[in-house]
Amino acid sequence: MDNCLFCKIAAGDIPSKKAYEDDLCLAFYDIAPQAPVHFLVIPKAHIGSVAEVDDDNSAVVAHIFAVIAKLTKEMGLASYRVVSNIGEQAGQSVPHLHFHVLSGRDMTWPPG
Ligand code: AMP
Repeated sequence: MDNCLFCKIAAGDIPSKKAYEDDLCLAFYDIAPQAPVHFLVIPKAHIGSVAEVDDDNSAVVAHIFAVIAKLTKEMGLASYRVVSNIGEQAGQSVPHLHFHVLSGRDMTWPPG
């Protein structure tokens, strides 16, 4: 999608510090980490947010969760949080579906 930051990162037009990549998704480290480990996992195909997931595109979401399980095991992360913000009030700043994976510190609940 034109003018989408994460589409440009997925295409390699904007550099990122990659943690994992395959045909369907990309994991890369967040530029402003909120925990000792903080990376994002995105589908390469543009989806605006969880609010745009439907029966036609949801397979990539299952794939992303399998990638998160595999990557966190490989990284030795026993405990972590997966977050997806939907809409401005919830804190979404980039309108391309992404899952934050945060680890390496105590997490509070409820989130702020
Ligand atoms: P959200 O605010 O939930 O939409 O998450 C967007 C995340 O993308 C934020 O945590 C930003 O720090 C991160 N971010 C923005 N630009 C970049 C970039 N060029 N490379 C890596 N992470 C980025």
